[in-house]
Amino acid sequence: MKTIIGNWKMHLGIRESIAHARGVLRSVMGHEVLPEIVICPSFTALSEVRKVLVRTRVALGAQTMGTERFGAFTGDVSVAQLDDAGCGFVIIGHSERRAMNGESDAVVNAKMKLIAQTSLVPILCVGESKESRVAGKAEEFVAQQLGAALRGVTLTKASRLVVAYEPIWAIDTGVSATPADAVAMHGVIREALRTIGVGAAVQVLYGGSVDGANAYSFLREPGIDGVLVGGASVKIHEFEAIVNAGRDVMIAQNV
Ligand code: PEP
Repeated sequence: MKTIIGNWKMHLGIRESIAHARGVLRSVMGHEVLPEIVICPSFTALSEVRKVLVRTRVALGAQTMGTERFGAFTGDVSVAQLDDAGCGFVIIGHSERRAMNGESDAVVNAKMKLIAQTSLVPILCVGESKESRVAGKAEEFVAQQLGAALRGVTLTKASRLVVAYEPIWAIDTGVSATPADAVAMHGVIREALRTIGVGAAVQVLYGGSVDGANAYSFLREPGIDGVLVGGASVKIHEFEAIVNAGRDVMIAQNV
């Protein structure tokens, strides 16, 4: 099974989100073999998109969550509220939030602790900067990020964890990592998770300028369980091409 996650970022109003979700459904209709598909609209569109996705094979996710259970935290949305809104997934530690919203490793860790007590699946984003890669420190950096995010987090065998390797320099730049670089880093991530002793079922996805043209080259790699897609996920033909690449790989490789 391959997993394809669309992060719609701060694009699309409510009506556009409904139309886009319907477009995603149209593009998967009639196919028996399908990757797991998750779409993550803005908070404002979650409840309307949820209605579109009821009884379909496309799941709903959120782009972030707050660090507290409930209370006087103006503007925040708790994991319980996301559950209530029908989300099965939530993106944690996206590099845009780390860079622009002050989400430190400690904040990411607090969110991971909260989500571990729910049935939502975390999509934990990790990835190095260009400087870190050029300095030959990318692997060390990503392993450290994972360790910090998962410190004291109890994930049982029944839990599920999705890790998205998203090198910062590849996000929204049109310059993706090579599949070989992604595979190598995915190996580092799996090894780090083994060292940490994560008992959960883990999938490792690649994210960073994935589009309809390059998706197959990532998805065909056995070490890459799927892709997290930003910009291309709000373009219906691109997203459809990415989903089709996932289907083609699943059919060809019988996975
Ligand atoms: C993302 O936002 O997670 C992402 C991978 O963005 P893009 O595909 O636009 O690089």
